[in-house]
Amino acid sequence: MRKILLTGDRPTGPLHIGHLFGSLLSRRELQDQYESYIMIADVQALTDNFENPQKVHESVYEVAADNLAIGLDPEKVSFFIQSQIPQIAELTVFYSNLVTVNTLRRNPTVKAEIAQKQKLFGQDGESVTYGFLGYPVSQAADITFVRGEIVPVGEEQLPMIEQTREIVEKFHRIYNCNIFPIPQAKLSPGSRILGLDGKTKMSKSLNNTIFLKDTPEDTVEKLKTAKTDSERRIDYDPENRPEISNLVLIYSIINNIKPAEAITDLENQGYNSPAKGYGHFKAQLADNLNGYLKPIRERRKEITADPSYIKNILETGRDQAIAKAEETMALVRSAMQINY
Ligand code: ATP
Ligand code: MG
Repeated sequence: MRKILLTGDRPTGPLHIGHLFGSLLSRRELQDQYESYIMIADVQALTDNFENPQKVHESVYEVAADNLAIGLDPEKVSFFIQSQIPQIAELTVFYSNLVTVNTLRRNPTVKAEIAQKQKLFGQDGESVTYGFLGYPVSQAADITFVRGEIVPVGEEQLPMIEQTREIVEKFHRIYNCNIFPIPQAKLSPGSRILGLDGKTKMSKSLNNTIFLKDTPEDTVEKLKTAKTDSERRIDYDPENRPEISNLVLIYSIINNIKPAEAITDLENQGYNSPAKGYGHFKAQLADNLNGYLKPIRERRKEITADPSYIKNILETGRDQAIAKAEETMALVRSAMQINY
């Protein structure tokens, strides 16, 4: 039996190169090897966008189109929308007994996201909802309802996977069973792409992205304004020079080389002289990135030309996910003695 892969995206906007390098490329690479499920996490998106249902609704199709455009094959991968799987909600309720409120408050990603919202929207700590605080519990249900084992994600998701492992272990201990594999995160070299503004993460919600669907012209313009330091020397030193290192990392991923090789490569091309500054490198990077994204952008246009194409894929995927969910729930209900 093949191992099971599950991962997903929040439908809060179209996907960007952070998603591509952090998670989508591994999904594509692993789709032949694993029984794969890709979830569009509309329920999770609503935890902090509940007043904006239209954005979430529309973004479901954007996110599906991006995943398909990069070469995920719907014959191999089940794509589904989270809210269409009631068993995820059911498991979330059972798991919520196994996690303390204090543990959720201490989750580093949840903490960082709350701090970011406070800064962006002037919210105070009191405005954090029960639903938002609890989304790591819901994420444990997302991963485990298919008995997922491998989870290709970006770095900020590590605390969520850890939380899931803790829930699984506790569930097994308390209900004296062994239903779930212990999930493992799968990180890629691009597991944390910084924003073009140098912020800790390129993020749909921070307006610091290059979207997969951006035009080549937008890509050139956005990269021109990408934040860099004043040293005028291209280097890969993420700790001390995060902004330029982030651009070098992107260059290395799309050219399929290591960051250190990228530096040598750029030096050989004469891009690393103080006289040239960063402008030439940024232009070269934009050109390379546009070349890399061209087939993805073309495929995306084809996919979105026929709205029923995505709809059908999401319906088939929903049925496959529900079949898997029912298998899991039979085991869960029996272990919890709620199989009346
Ligand atoms: P939001 O701001 O709504 O949370 P997001 O840009 O963080 O949006 P998600 O849908 O939360 O995107 O993330 C989907 C997947 O992409 C996750 O596995 C996440 O870790 C990964 N990911 C998101 N942003 C980046 C990034 N900048 N670098 C690497 N991976 C990323
Ligand atoms: Mg996110």
